[in-house]
Amino acid sequence: MKPGIVIIAAPSGAGKTTLCDMLLQDYPELVYSVSCTTREPRGEEEDGVDYHFVDKAAFERLIGERAFLEHALVHGNYYGTLAAPVRDALRDNLSILLDIDVAGAAQVRESLAALPEGDPLRNCGFVDIFISPPSIAELRRRLVSRGEDAPEVIERRIGNARGEMARADEFHYHVVNDDLGVAYRELRAILEHENAVIGPENHV
Ligand code: ADP
Ligand code: 5GP
Repeated sequence: MKPGIVIIAAPSGAGKTTLCDMLLQDYPELVYSVSCTTREPRGEEEDGVDYHFVDKAAFERLIGERAFLEHALVHGNYYGTLAAPVRDALRDNLSILLDIDVAGAAQVRESLAALPEGDPLRNCGFVDIFISPPSIAELRRRLVSRGEDAPEVIERRIGNARGEMARADEFHYHVVNDDLGVAYRELRAILEHENAVIGPENHV
């Protein structure tokens, strides 16, 4: 297996967290990249598990220290991937799952290409997958039924979703999350095909 970076991007509400949690359960050699964010914790989210929740000053300090592999302003809040845990995972022969937005994915592609020859990050495996909902109407239904966002937040997320879905072509793979079981099987097949994870038949 070639350890590497697995990027999964999707409009909020498409089912990315659900699908990522399923992958992380099934593949112990895949670890989750815990992002930093300036947004408030939602529901049962835990600091250090779902996100590192930091204030704007701390986030800007990390930008100044060049601690991020990528960072972006999403829905009015900062989000960023710390470079150190990505390097640590690759050093430990693990693949690392980045749940980030389309702008962050573009930055990762650029950052990796700009690294010097011989940098382990430049030569690691890389796969990027875009997940979309079957329709905007279904996306709205899922955001409403999740019950975590105010109506105006839901409308903002849907507005952003149209822009994100227009950039799906930037990704090597595109999975439509209509039936959850079908989408999950497609996702697993992609990761196993790319050797980012070992197929279940090879698990001891
Ligand atoms: P995201 O992480 O992309 O914002 P979530 O994983 O939180 O999305 O999913 C949003 C909501 O939609 C959740 O309530 C989840 O249970 C539900 N959901 C996810 N995938 C499907 C699917 N294929 N069909 C129906 N509901 C789904
Ligand atoms: P949420 O607030 O719903 O957890 O996430 C909102 C959006 O921010 C999602 O599209 C999610 O993928 C994205 N996001 C989460 N972490 C990061 C990150 O570290 N970098 C970038 N660029 N986007 C992120």
